[in-house]
Amino acid sequence: MDDPEAFGDVDVRFLQPYQVTKTYLCPNCNREILPGTGHYAVVPVDAPDLRRHWHRGCWDGRKTRGARR
Ligand SMILES: [Zn+2]
Repeated sequence: MDDPEAFGDVDVRFLQPYQVTKTYLCPNCNREILPGTGHYAVVPVDAPDLRRHWHRGCWDGRKTRGARR
């Protein structure tokens, strides 16, 4: 899976629905993030070209993964 934290520190920004005017593909679930959907933009600090867009639920769920079991 696409793991932005493999590149070190990441800059995570929440995009408000009104800021989202394009469709993105979430690397976690491989589904589209439609325009008008609030979500996270995840940008590796050392590799800004590898910016990815994640559903809010996908990113939040990912962060606790491994800590639960
Ligand atoms: Zn997703």
